[in-house]
Amino acid sequence: MDGPAPTGQADSGFKRHKTRVVEVGGVGIGGDNPVRVQSMTTPDTFHVAEVVEQIRRLEEAGCELVRVTVPKPEDAAALTEIKKQINIPLICDIHFDHRMALQAMDHPVDKIRINPGNIGGLDKFRQVVRKARDKGLPMRIGVNAGSLEKDLIEKYGYPCPPAMVESVLRYLEIAEAEKYHSIIVSLKSSDTLTAIESYRLYAKQADYPTHIGITEAGKPPYAIVKSACGLAPLLVDGIGDTMRISLLGDPVPEIAAAYDILQATRRRVRRPELIACPTCGRLEIDLEGIIAQVEKRLEGKKTPIKISILGCVVNGPGEAKEADLGIAAGKGKGVIFKRGEIVRHVKEEEMVDALLEEVAIWETEEAQHGRLVTEKRVESGPQQRHRLPMTK
Ligand code: SF4
Repeated sequence: MDGPAPTGQADSGFKRHKTRVVEVGGVGIGGDNPVRVQSMTTPDTFHVAEVVEQIRRLEEAGCELVRVTVPKPEDAAALTEIKKQINIPLICDIHFDHRMALQAMDHPVDKIRINPGNIGGLDKFRQVVRKARDKGLPMRIGVNAGSLEKDLIEKYGYPCPPAMVESVLRYLEIAEAEKYHSIIVSLKSSDTLTAIESYRLYAKQADYPTHIGITEAGKPPYAIVKSACGLAPLLVDGIGDTMRISLLGDPVPEIAAAYDILQATRRRVRRPELIACPTCGRLEIDLEGIIAQVEKRLEGKKTPIKISILGCVVNGPGEAKEADLGIAAGKGKGVIFKRGEIVRHVKEEEMVDALLEEVAIWETEEAQHGRLVTEKRVESGPQQRHRLPMTK
């Protein structure tokens, strides 16, 4: 029974880049903290009851930080009441009017997000930075390809990754000159390749944690696929300390999509992973029925166990050996593997019960060896980032 669990082994070669830690309302972002999942509300912020109802549904789905937009004084005025009624850190999102940022910070918010490119100039950006510094509030400096400064567009011709990174480094230098370091950075674009290259370029040059996302991804399911395509390369590179999946409409499905992407990239594994073959003409059991029953009985379970259920002997034994638990099925029967070893021969009708029994035994054994966790994730590697000279 000794020896490391296969689930952990799979992650060992993929370390996270080291970023500094920024605390947002008691939730650590960056460093060895898990990649935090966040979302944004959709009703007008001054409609407190609707906003709180949505935030509670987001919390229930696993959202760890929530952002609300603050375009008008009545929205800023609602922040105190919203904060009172929710349990996760509250972020206020400001565009265009730096006075809204200043007003929002008079309320008990946990973080402010601004896009310095549209806040009305460097002097206004400095005013917001100084107030955040004095209040001890963290800030996301969110550069967006759609609102890059004119001089950078003139210099580079279009909002390319070097332009995005030069923009964010410019604002970081200003903030640092004000002795303000409680910063999270985003470099969003609706173009996946621009976003990927911008974050990669940034990651070579600074160590403020990153908020990653593909902006304006659109309507699911395509938006989820697009977000996964844009974020997975970054997550696998070890980039990304908090993320938001932007989906059109109700934000609650964003949370499941974010955790699925984190699970598939093995950045945060918080529930069982079920590996099933697509089935084909070789299949000799009711695999779809078995998977449906197993999924149902595993619902709500937090153990990050990897279970494979394959329909025949072509890949069944090989996959089963790679998983924590696996079934290689044959004609009306199957073999259960645990940590690569055969532990049981079962008939098709006993398969689900037997597998669930083995899950319980596996959990007990892992607990006895002090290895049972409710989440597996990748920790920071030894990489250090060095600020390179800015291209002027
Ligand atoms: S494991 Fe067997 S049944 Fe399943 S897809 Fe592969 S060949 Fe077909």
